[in-house]
Amino acid sequence: EAYEVWTRSDEYHNSFLIKPDAALEAIVKSNSYELAVSTAHGKFLNLLLLSIGAKRVLEVGSLAGYSAIWMARALPDDGEVISLELDPFLVQTIEENVKNAGLSSKVKVIAGPALSSMQGMQPETPFDFVFIDADKENNTNYFIEAKRLVRKGGVIMVDNVGQSGGPRKLQNTHPWIEGVRQLLRYIKDDTEVEATTIHTVGEKGFDGFLYAIRK
Ligand code: SAM
Repeated sequence: EAYEVWTRSDEYHNSFLIKPDAALEAIVKSNSYELAVSTAHGKFLNLLLLSIGAKRVLEVGSLAGYSAIWMARALPDDGEVISLELDPFLVQTIEENVKNAGLSSKVKVIAGPALSSMQGMQPETPFDFVFIDADKENNTNYFIEAKRLVRKGGVIMVDNVGQSGGPRKLQNTHPWIEGVRQLLRYIKDDTEVEATTIHTVGEKGFDGFLYAIRK
């Protein structure tokens, strides 16, 4: 397996840099971890939120709450992660995992299609950070709403834009890949953000995330 060397490298580095966390480790052992951010990426989200002093975070796509827990751990007592998840059957799992992490007061899950949840939001205080990690076909729609909901100088991160190099291969018309391409085309002409893609390699293979700042 081509990625095994990077899985082992991630494990090696994590053994020095990432403290044991029973609630997160329980999710790593579950089926949900396959589609969650990697452990190192989860910690990076946590550090990033600490760096920008984030208080209010919006997540698009919760799955089992793995990234939500990493992010909520970075927030002050009055901070909040609002996490949007399509699958109503996952809500109980997310809430159990969040409770297990002692973070029930900081994570709120909203079930249903994320786009309509976002479109219905008129927050009094804008978000400091939006993490987009759901159906990739809707990346651009989520990004447009995220721009409306995030503060000036706030950050929007879009996961899985690397897709093993797929987006630059124009013969690859998989809807997830098209979702990345459409987002890149949109941002090219967008004067409201500055963005860059950081490619990643690790236990999740070759991928990348897009990091954008709302001007
Ligand atoms: N952010 C999570 C983590 O790292 O732990 C992983 C999220 S997983 C990659 C994508 C999630 O998006 C799935 O749980 C899926 O059910 C959800 N999803 C898919 N389409 C959606 C939609 N239209 N609205 C909200 N959530 C959606």
